[in-house]
Amino acid sequence: MRQLDRLWKYQGADKKVTEYETEIRQFPLRQQLLKLRNIVADQQTVVRGLENDAGKALDRLNELTAQRDQAQQIFDEAKQALESGAYATAEQVHQAISRVSDAEGRLRSAEKELSKMVSHAQMMENRYKDVRNKAAKARDEYNKLKVGYDKEFEKQTAHLEELKQARQEAAEGIDPAYMERYKAIRSQRFPVMARIHNDQCSGCNMSLPSAVAKQITGSDEIVECENCGRILYIPDGEK
Ligand SMILES: [Zn+2]
Repeated sequence: MRQLDRLWKYQGADKKVTEYETEIRQFPLRQQLLKLRNIVADQQTVVRGLENDAGKALDRLNELTAQRDQAQQIFDEAKQALESGAYATAEQVHQAISRVSDAEGRLRSAEKELSKMVSHAQMMENRYKDVRNKAAKARDEYNKLKVGYDKEFEKQTAHLEELKQARQEAAEGIDPAYMERYKAIRSQRFPVMARIHNDQCSGCNMSLPSAVAKQITGSDEIVECENCGRILYIPDGEK
């Protein structure tokens, strides 16, 4: 058996491994699991953002509450002093009134912002619950599907091992120089070898000089397609 025939057989086994690896990657259940995992990850990011926002809102809430309490205190004190006639001059009374009205203004603005924050907090809480629910559902579904997938994956892995074993067996008896050439091309394109049909490379469909087919018929020499670089192949006994 020529080296090229062995290499051709090896390529067949190699193709089976590659195709099955692709099939495993594109397995619908696996794709579904990846999608669910991404949903969970995205929602975790949203949850972290919401928690961060909530922390900031809480700080602002505490600040506003302190401002409101302080304004309330100034307002109460000045009002009380006015009512009890503690001020002797019109100027003092005037100043006290202005303090009261100033404190009242600050009080109102703090309360307004507080009430806005309360309704905003309500909205955020709903959103937070919603996102958490969705993440929990996606996680449950993931866990359920994962059990079935793990079993399937075990089977897939076993079958892939068989195919790899067959490929390894097909490699036996191949001259290292031929294998090295195969692997060098393999890293660029697949399939590595292409048959010649009607003086055309079946890898890239380019027409080849008819001398090329003559050159490789029955020969064990590596001749590459000058267009795509594949090893040209004509099975034994074929013209
Ligand atoms: Zn070609």
